[in-house]
Amino acid sequence: MSAPAIRRAQPERLDIETDVLVIGAGACGLVAALAAHDGGADVVVVERDASPSGSTSMSSGFIPAPATRAQRATGIADDNASRFEADIQAKAKGRAVPALARLASSEIGPALDWLAERHGLEWVVLTDFLYPGHSRHRMHAVPEKTGTALMARLSAAAAACDIPVVTEALARGLFVGDDDAIRAVEIERPDGQTEIIGCKALILACNGYGGNPDLVARHIPEMTDALYYGHAGNTGDALLWGEELGAQTRHLTAYQGHGSLAHPHGVLISWALMMEGAIQVNAAGERFSNEHGGYSEQAVAVLAQPGGTAWNIYDERIHDFARAGFPDYRDALAAGAIREGETLADIAAATGLPGAALEVTLASVARFQCGVEADPFARDFTDKPALAAPFFAVKVTGALFHTQGGLMIDDSARGLRGDGHPFPNLFAAGGAACGVSGPDVSGYLSGNGLLTAIAFGRVAGREAASRG
Ligand SMILES: Cc1cc2nc3c(=O)[nH]c(=O)nc-3n(C[C@H](O)[C@H](O)[C@H](O)COP(=O)(O)OP(=O)(O)OC[C@H]3O[C@@H](n4cnc5c(N)ncnc54)[C@H](O)[C@@H]3O)c2cc1C
Repeated sequence: MSAPAIRRAQPERLDIETDVLVIGAGACGLVAALAAHDGGADVVVVERDASPSGSTSMSSGFIPAPATRAQRATGIADDNASRFEADIQAKAKGRAVPALARLASSEIGPALDWLAERHGLEWVVLTDFLYPGHSRHRMHAVPEKTGTALMARLSAAAAACDIPVVTEALARGLFVGDDDAIRAVEIERPDGQTEIIGCKALILACNGYGGNPDLVARHIPEMTDALYYGHAGNTGDALLWGEELGAQTRHLTAYQGHGSLAHPHGVLISWALMMEGAIQVNAAGERFSNEHGGYSEQAVAVLAQPGGTAWNIYDERIHDFARAGFPDYRDALAAGAIREGETLADIAAATGLPGAALEVTLASVARFQCGVEADPFARDFTDKPALAAPFFAVKVTGALFHTQGGLMIDDSARGLRGDGHPFPNLFAAGGAACGVSGPDVSGYLSGNGLLTAIAFGRVAGREAASRG
């Protein structure tokens, strides 16, 4: 299979024609398709896999949004787009592209309300846990609280609108006119046959380049040897096409990491455990960071420890909280990843950690918790109860979840050319576009991934329909 390519030529034939063509059937592509459909356009989605899943299915499915009907129904009335934008910029240390942070924070609330009212998606707001960096409870999920269920509900909504999602269709090449307008896309079937789909507007919703080791090594060398835990089919085609077209790209060094993937089981252990009072220790039984800095940058901190791993240590209160609230945690439990011990000596025996060092670390944490001593890593332990026997432990590693840089877009989600002018009919959103996390791993605020998939996806679909 050859690399994707730009062809400055008229297509030799058109097998199908549509107003709006969407490449990628994750959350971004399906939301874009629904918006284009609602805008009155004929829309077709092409997806390389036999069954759409993407990183969206692998995700926890948590979407931050202010001032939605669902949020107001939980009694939270003082959240708004400006507050959310301020949280995004605070996490990114002011380095998120201002126009994109504004667009995302103002579009996401109306987008979730529209998905609820027009397309029947149900939202619950997670109020039992405040995600790091969010100043209000604004994390939304479908009632099942999984990315798989989010995908299922979006797929059902697309089916209800009779939107064709053409699977086993790898987009390989774009036919582009002299005016930089996209005329058609060539897709390749698993048997090598090709089809050419003509379009009036093209939306790139095929995520970033986490699944392309060469691009990861080039842009985020610190993750070259890390496990990529996102969808394997996200091989950076949008970025490669964009570069060949002379498009502006931005923040290609940005990504979402995660410092708590059960190892070697490969199951996500929610960072909610840390926020509830858990700690991370290395093989020497010692803490090595402020675990409340953020789970994304913690990927780098964990990978820097001996063996590239750490142990999450916590107690029964936190174990019960995680088991009740997080399906991933229940999966980790079923996979045998969670160790349990009546005493720290039992935990040392179950994990191979040095018992004496573990005792010293937990004794320090107890002093930080009751406020008689300050944590040298500057974490505040005083707002959660002290850790108490019995104890639990899970071995974790750091991983790359998805890339956050991509094609630079304008307020209409149109890709920008090198000269700053938009392409006539090329749109990008979700992981294919520049995100709102600034230039590095530390700028990722929880939920920034689905935020731009859904907010920018809707803008792209709406605007593509109006131009199609
Ligand atoms: C474990 C994990 C947990 C996460 N949890 C959260 C969370 O709770 N909240 C949050 O906001 N974010 C989370 N994220 C990030 C989030 O999953 C992504 O940011 C989001 O799903 C991106 O959506 P998307 O539609 O852009 O991409 P995807 O869902 O990955 O969809 C892209 C699709 O494009 C297809 N594709 C790629 N190239 C081509 C091509 N050439 N031709 C045809 N099809 C192609 C792919 O097969 C894929 O189906 C998580 C990520 C991971 C890995």
